[in-house]
Amino acid sequence: MDCLFCKIIAGEIPSTKVYEDDIAYAFEDINPQAGVHVLVIPKQHVESVEEAGMLHPGTLDGLFRSIREVAREKGIAESGYRVVSNIGEHGAQTVKHLHFHVIGGEQLSGRMG
Ligand code: 5GP
Ligand code: ZN
Repeated sequence: MDCLFCKIIAGEIPSTKVYEDDIAYAFEDINPQAGVHVLVIPKQHVESVEEAGMLHPGTLDGLFRSIREVAREKGIAESGYRVVSNIGEHGAQTVKHLHFHVIGGEQLSGRMG
């Protein structure tokens, strides 16, 4: 499958790993929007939250466990952070492999976008 994030999981495209387990892979966003900007993705390819019902049982739980682990490892669990998943055209999703942006490390705007 011609999917950028599947290639990152496979190690065919280099990335800066933050966390990995059987379910999830987390890596630094190449174009960070804040002091901390990590992408958390399932190893199972699904396109977006709209397809999250196709994930194996327990995978969504595992992804959110990984998000919390990333926040601890990056030192932002206490200060707070934002989790965002863009979906489809109006959501401005550019990579069609489900991913959660974990953004923090500084005071974020109260407005989205
Ligand atoms: P989206 O716009 O689909 O929600 O988010 C895609 C994210 O992937 C963007 O924040 C973009 O900077 C990031 N990204 C795109 N290509 C690469 C890449 O090759 N490596 C890494 N680490 N991040 C990427
Ligand atoms: Zn993929």
